[in-house]
Amino acid sequence: MSGFSLAVTLVAVLLLGYGMGVVVNYFADVLPQTRRLSPVRCLHCQNPYPLLQYILLRPCLECGTRRSLRARVVQGILPLLTLALWVWPPPGRVPISVAWGLLLFFSVVFVIDWEYRVVLYQVSGVGALLGAGIGAWLNGWQTTFLGGGLGFGIMLALYYLGELFVRWAAHRRGLETDEVALGFGDVTLSGVLGLMLGWPRIGIGLLFAILLGGIVSGLYLVGLLVSKRYQPFAALPYTPFLLVAAAILMYLA
Ligand SMILES: [Zn+2]
Repeated sequence: MSGFSLAVTLVAVLLLGYGMGVVVNYFADVLPQTRRLSPVRCLHCQNPYPLLQYILLRPCLECGTRRSLRARVVQGILPLLTLALWVWPPPGRVPISVAWGLLLFFSVVFVIDWEYRVVLYQVSGVGALLGAGIGAWLNGWQTTFLGGGLGFGIMLALYYLGELFVRWAAHRRGLETDEVALGFGDVTLSGVLGLMLGWPRIGIGLLFAILLGGIVSGLYLVGLLVSKRYQPFAALPYTPFLLVAAAILMYLA
């Protein structure tokens, strides 16, 4: 590739990544609030946001409220991640367009989970369709549905075990509780990842995510104990660990 066409390609990839950042911000701004693809409104004054103002991260024209830090971080990081995938594409038969699509989807999952601690079922539904399609094409239908079913089933079992444990522990202390040890969004996300990775890779992925989550929460607990801010049953979000495990598996297996 000549120097000039390389430069043009780099700019095009970065622009694509910036566009993906805008799309991730759009989903994260409207979906948790309205649960559908509604027009963007200022989160402060509820006036409609002009498209160009929105894309360029400009403040609201009506009330001057600036966009969130998350919006700036997402539109700054997505171009770099898009470029990184182009430079180091996942091995195997995953085309770059599919890899970019997965980056977009999982960025939406990650950002909404980060801000609202939920994985929306609308997003999981789209993920299940994506996962089933990509999984069947890469690994065949059998591996795909086995992976989806077992990914969902294993995490569902852990979800109920966690609930039992929290109830039992609260009962011992004479408390009522509606806390959960594991979010249901993590269960549906495991199903989606299971479809995509197939069986047995989703089993390895779950094991890896749980170990990683255990290590990080252990360190976090030690930190709380050392700083004397310990409180039992601070729920640990597993979504980031599931996503990290899935990304590593895409490269290793
Ligand atoms: Zn406003």
